[in-house]
Amino acid sequence: MIDFHCHVDLYPDPEAVVIQVRERDVDVLAVTTTPRAWEGTRILVSKAPRIKVALGLHPELVAERHVEVELLCSAIAEAKYLGEIGLDGSPPHRHSLDLQTRVFNRILQVCATHGGRIMTVHSRGASSLVLDALESHPKSGTAVLHWFSGTRRELNRAIALGCWFSVGPVMLRGAKGRSLVAEMPHERVLTETDGPFAQTGTCPLMPWDVNQATVHLSQLWNISIPDTNVIVENNFKKLLIS
Ligand code: MN
Repeated sequence: MIDFHCHVDLYPDPEAVVIQVRERDVDVLAVTTTPRAWEGTRILVSKAPRIKVALGLHPELVAERHVEVELLCSAIAEAKYLGEIGLDGSPPHRHSLDLQTRVFNRILQVCATHGGRIMTVHSRGASSLVLDALESHPKSGTAVLHWFSGTRRELNRAIALGCWFSVGPVMLRGAKGRSLVAEMPHERVLTETDGPFAQTGTCPLMPWDVNQATVHLSQLWNISIPDTNVIVENNFKKLLIS
């Protein structure tokens, strides 16, 4: 199982989550929302080799924490994975889109100077703006668009730009999410939970709940669950050596 976008440090008891991940068959990309959290999360997961940590500055925090962009950029040399980064154009965050765009472009530019990075990218309410930024930084690396919610046209543009996608149980429960996922190239799809923000009922999704996404994917792709796992795991391996 692969959970390619999970906020491991933000569960009520992160140490317990790390222990359970170690006991279960799951690879996790632990995304962070600030560069300071990246440092702490690396220590948190230091005994769990299947949890990788991504260096991030969440677009929802950029308005108040944009000064941390320089701290983030200075850490990019050491970070193989970036995220959560991107843009949020939803009503509570739309006012800071100009600042978010400057910050995101700066991060992409520094990734490019380091030869590119694997990036997990947020694009809620700002899909076209995210794609504009990625298009203007073609050497920034591989963008994995997490929980993509744009239009069909934006999806096709993302595919043409070489983007990958990570899809989770909540996205796959909705008709719009399912119709987008159905159009994604199988060889560029990974699974995610976005826990603890994404929930089932009132329970945050745990990294191993990513198997719910696999079940949905197997139905969409009309193949068995083991075959679905093979595809997603091969995609993950291919991305990591890219
Ligand atoms: Mn997230």
